[in-house]
Amino acid sequence: MKEGREIFKLSGEPESSEEIRRDRDMLPSRSGGLEKSPELEDFLRRVDFALLYDIFKRIAEKSGINPETLNLLNPDRIFNKHIIEEGQIKKAKDNEPTGNLGGYEATRNIIFFYIKEMEKNQQTDFLGIHPDLLKLHALCHEETHATAKTICRGVFARSRHTKVQMGYQQSEFKKTILGDRLKRFFEFFNEGVTEKLAREVFQEYTVATAFADTNDLSTFREKVDAFYSSYVILVDAFIAKISSQTGISEDMVWKAIIRGMYEGENLMESELKQAFDEMVSRGFAKRLAEAETADDIQSLIDELHTT
Ligand SMILES: [Zn+2]
Repeated sequence: MKEGREIFKLSGEPESSEEIRRDRDMLPSRSGGLEKSPELEDFLRRVDFALLYDIFKRIAEKSGINPETLNLLNPDRIFNKHIIEEGQIKKAKDNEPTGNLGGYEATRNIIFFYIKEMEKNQQTDFLGIHPDLLKLHALCHEETHATAKTICRGVFARSRHTKVQMGYQQSEFKKTILGDRLKRFFEFFNEGVTEKLAREVFQEYTVATAFADTNDLSTFREKVDAFYSSYVILVDAFIAKISSQTGISEDMVWKAIIRGMYEGENLMESELKQAFDEMVSRGFAKRLAEAETADDIQSLIDELHTT
């Protein structure tokens, strides 16, 4: 049974059993800028994690994934963080609200909420959305990242070179004499798939619980489309394209994409790459991998709509 989270040495050899145990059992030290605010503690106490896990497990099962392999994070691994680091998700458009209060850190296997973003949200009632719903949405999004296939290479050696795969996203970090270099591939596609699935999880969770007031929920649903909107539009256009080219229903294509995220499918693999060349256009997988600006994402969407 392949676990959803795997750790290797940079060489590709398995990590020592001691490191594997440490990765699984030890919580990161609080000294690394991590803490838990009373607001976060209070929010986490009110979330029904057993229900949240059930929802993720059902989704995994429907896509052909063994639900026991999912790396679901419990409140022990959810923190506040003070500093916003560089290299955090870029907004495709400056005016596009991501609805994102934090992130998932694959190397330490934690979810975090930026304390400043959370406070801002608490005070200003961001976009008119109830603060709890924004937190819940962010939690669903970050748990989706956490449950996606994660493969860390070289992260325990304090090495100057690490490779991390998170769902469809692949990143490579190198410390060089000219400074730090971080390269990411398929970031936008991975964010779109993550957010699309997170919305389904959020929907199921709120239907099944009395977590939120009905009015607050309907306001949230009116506004959620604005979050990560160009990423999700990209994924929807991709699904429509593959469906029309193959005759496979959009729902089945979507399930296959979810399975790919949980299996850590490499979209640059020759067979898939060739299929995209034929179904969309030559070099599509490469352009999808390397997209990093709002213009890049828009031209990919246009390409999917017109070819
Ligand atoms: Zn994300």
